[in-house]
Amino acid sequence: MKLTFKLVFALIALIVLILVVDAYLSVRRESAFLREELQRKAYRIGSAMKELVADAWRRQGPDVALALIQAANERERLLMIRWVWLDDSGIETFRPHAPTDQLGQSTLSEPVTLQYRTRDGRQFLVTYVGVNVGQRPGALELSEPLSVTDDFVWTSIYRKIALTAIVVLSTIGATLLLGIWLVGWPLKRLIDKARRVSTGDLSEPIELRSRDELSELADTLNQMCQSLSESEQKIRHEADARIATIEQLRHSDRLRTVGQLASGVAHELGTPLNVVTGRASLISSGRLAPDAIVESAQIIKSQAERMADIIRQLLDFSRSGKTRRVPVDLQMIVRETSKILNPLSRKHGVELIINEATEPMSACVDPGQIQQVLTNLVMNAIQATPAGGRVTMGVSREHIQSPSKDTTVRDDYCLSVEDTGHGIPDEILNRLFEPFVTTKDVGQGTGLGLSIAYGIVQEHGGWIDVKSKLGHGSHFRVYLPEGKQPCQDES
Ligand code: ADP
Repeated sequence: MKLTFKLVFALIALIVLILVVDAYLSVRRESAFLREELQRKAYRIGSAMKELVADAWRRQGPDVALALIQAANERERLLMIRWVWLDDSGIETFRPHAPTDQLGQSTLSEPVTLQYRTRDGRQFLVTYVGVNVGQRPGALELSEPLSVTDDFVWTSIYRKIALTAIVVLSTIGATLLLGIWLVGWPLKRLIDKARRVSTGDLSEPIELRSRDELSELADTLNQMCQSLSESEQKIRHEADARIATIEQLRHSDRLRTVGQLASGVAHELGTPLNVVTGRASLISSGRLAPDAIVESAQIIKSQAERMADIIRQLLDFSRSGKTRRVPVDLQMIVRETSKILNPLSRKHGVELIINEATEPMSACVDPGQIQQVLTNLVMNAIQATPAGGRVTMGVSREHIQSPSKDTTVRDDYCLSVEDTGHGIPDEILNRLFEPFVTTKDVGQGTGLGLSIAYGIVQEHGGWIDVKSKLGHGSHFRVYLPEGKQPCQDES
């Protein structure tokens, strides 16, 4: 129920209760007063007639006295005056209407008032005033119908009901109007504002012109929105700064990786450069037949292309692109990574093997970031593996339970890097993804590679699992969600 209606309802109930109690008490009071008034009137008339009747009875006889009573009776409109014998032995005409046993003493030195009901249900207030007329106890009976008071009571009740109805209706009207104007409408605006705040819309402060608690609440709400919006802005700035720092850190990590790859690349470029130099010398000697010149030129071209390819891959990897998730075949990222790392693995005498998947593994990821993760893992694996060892990488699809609180089983892609290296000691394994954890010499490792990889994978909604056995090798698995919903660039 709306607040305004509740207030109106409560107010009306209270008013009705007060009016009903007041009506009940005043009707009772008025009807008691009316009864007393009737009784007093009967006493007055009875007492005045008592002496007259007694006197007439003694001097002029019962007939004159009874005629006097009859004359008085005819003059009164509601009051009925009769002569009655109290000894209960007279004829019906002079017998009291009220039962004589209720009259008490037979002579009635004091007037007595009784209430009696006729057979047809009418009620009368009857007063007996004793009159001394000789041997027999006689009295004047003055009776009045109580319907006079009933009529008065009912008129009073109708008036009270009408008054109550008028008060109730006008109170409903007034309180509804005032309630809607002073409470309902401002509350509606406050509720609308609160709803907008709950959906994150902090704009448009509300202004209530009334100077009351509701306008105070509106001011407080506006102030709250103001401070929320300031904190939101601050958080946004801080988040932007944090993202920028992370991006910078990731880029530095890439450049460090490029630095480490460079030695392998330099080693890799040695052979094609030698071939190019040799072939160029042959051509410049002028001793070659035209066919052999063409063949040497073609060899020079293909070797130059190979070198350009190696350098391009390195440049591509070192470039910092904007974070952008697109649908990409993870198998392709595995191949690209292997190409970049082949020179390094060859330099270390480690065999780099790809486990080719039979189906495309399309995931919604940032290809540059995932390649950075894979490169870090493979490079660590190559560095941990002695010459003659093996590093195997690949991608597969797995039905697996996530280690997070939400332990539902889901379909994930699994990028796997396994080596036959020296393995990871337990004290390093426990803190592997913490920043600055490294076993490498100064200048060789920063201990940031795996923590950066962890952050990237987590941002993609995945996680990294490691198994390692000292002296036998390590196995890193990167799980990435299959992501059934469309990628941001597809939508
Ligand atoms: P960094 O390579 O700069 O040391 P990382 O965070 O990439 O930093 O790696 C942290 C440490 O984890 C490495 O120093 C190394 O001791 C250990 N590690 C990582 N991968 C392997 C692996 N495949 N085999 C053995 N140790 C590893």
